[in-house]
Formats: sequence, C-alpha cells, structure tokens
Amino acid sequence: MAKRWYSLLTVALLVASVLLPASPAAAAPTFKVPFPCGQTWSGQTRTDHSPAYAVDFNRTNDLGDPVVASAPGTVDRVTDLGGTSYGKYVRIDHGGGYTTYYAHLNGFNVSVGQSVGYGKVIGWVGSTGGSTGPHLHYEQRLNGNDIQVRFNGSLALYWGTKSYTSGNGCSSSTGSGTVNTSGTALTVRSGPGTGYDAVGTVADGTRVTIYCQTSGTSVTGTYGTSSIWDRIGTGRYIADAYVYTGHDGYIPNVPRC
Ligand SMILES: [Zn+2]
Repeated sequence: MAKRWYSLLTVALLVASVLLPASPAAAAPTFKVPFPCGQTWSGQTRTDHSPAYAVDFNRTNDLGDPVVASAPGTVDRVTDLGGTSYGKYVRIDHGGGYTTYYAHLNGFNVSVGQSVGYGKVIGWVGSTGGSTGPHLHYEQRLNGNDIQVRFNGSLALYWGTKSYTSGNGCSSSTGSGTVNTSGTALTVRSGPGTGYDAVGTVADGTRVTIYCQTSGTSVTGTYGTSSIWDRIGTGRYIADAYVYTGHDGYIPNVPRC
C-alpha cells in the first residue's frame, strides 16, 4: 500500500507541475520619453556605453532643461555620487521589477518615497558625475538588469542616434471603470479615504468616469487591497479596490489628483 500511495503521489505531482503555469511576468509599464510633452530630443545608443542599453539624450542648450518621469512609480533613489559615475541621479521603481535611471542631473525635484506620474519633473539636465558635457543618461532595468529601452512599446534605435519626440504627459485623459461590490452600494467620500464624509453612493455595476487617481486609505475590496482612490466627480471619491479598470494599480494616462 505504501508503494502504491507513493506512486500515486508522484503522478499527482507530475500532473500538477505540468498543469500549473509558472507565475506570469508582470507587463512592462508603458514608458515614455523622459522629457515634457512635445519636446524633441536626440537619443544616442552606442556599444561602448555602460551599461550597454542606456540612452544619452541631448538637444541644443539643454543644460537645466526639465527631466520627467517616464512612467508612474515611486522614487526610490535620489543620490549624489559626487564627481564620479552617475553624479546626481534619480531612480524610479515602477513595480514588477522595472526601474528607470536618470543620471548626471543638475538638481533634484523629488525625494525618496515620492509617488510620481507621467510628466512629473524629477530634476534637471546637468553634467554631474563622470560626464563631459550636459546630457541625460537614461536607463530602463528589469530586476536590476539593463534592458533595451522602449518608448510606448517601441524599441529605441540600437545602435545609433535618433530623434525622439515626447508624448509624455501630453493630455490628461480620463479613465473609466465599473463598480463591482457584489451587490451593496459603494460609499462615495468627499476625499480619498474612509475618514472623509460619505457624500453618496454608487450602485453595484455602475460605469464611472475617473478624472484622476490618488493615494489614500488602504481598502480591501473585490480586487484586493489598494490605497488608490478614484475621483469620479468634484469632491467625490471611491475606493479603487471596488472598481474594475482593467489595470492593476494606477491607470496609464489618468492624472494624479
Ligand atoms: Zn550615458
């Protein structure tokens, strides 16, 4: 009996290992050119660059020009390495193992822990660290490894110099979602948190327009635990944990309140 039990267990484990998919990799954020909407910058890649897939950006008289977050995320490094390497640099954590680096900055406009959205100015173009002239050194990384840069899902030019026009933060579009509470009406609050006054309700299944999103009280709802709140009108907020938006976390292109 013991032997038979063992073989059944072995079969069960084999079946499980075949049928259970490996946990899927998180989708890459939609990265945008790290400069304000409409600006055109020359981006250079070269085989002797370190790391290899980094892009160096320039335009005429670029010293002091604003650098913006290329996707929503949380600033996790604001570091000054002095006269070597990156010099003054910012790193943004976009979740899913994705980070971006912005190096040789002249100065910082963000601090560690700050939540940033598309188009948020994080610092200014400089020539700090091991730089011989003003430019932005930009990297995208996955799990710490340098990856080939993509903007709006399109691969940058490897290798060479190409013009990139920014579509970053161009329009503050609205988003939409469907309230899913499994029956109960969802309380609308005057601000992004459960401590704000209740100012109404929305019925289960209601389609809502989301004008902006912000961080507030953490709420556990139909779609897990989230501190994101959706503004669905003037002074009207609902917990994103109860709203199906098609996105985990913030909706791309919907502004932060
Ligand atoms: Zn560089």
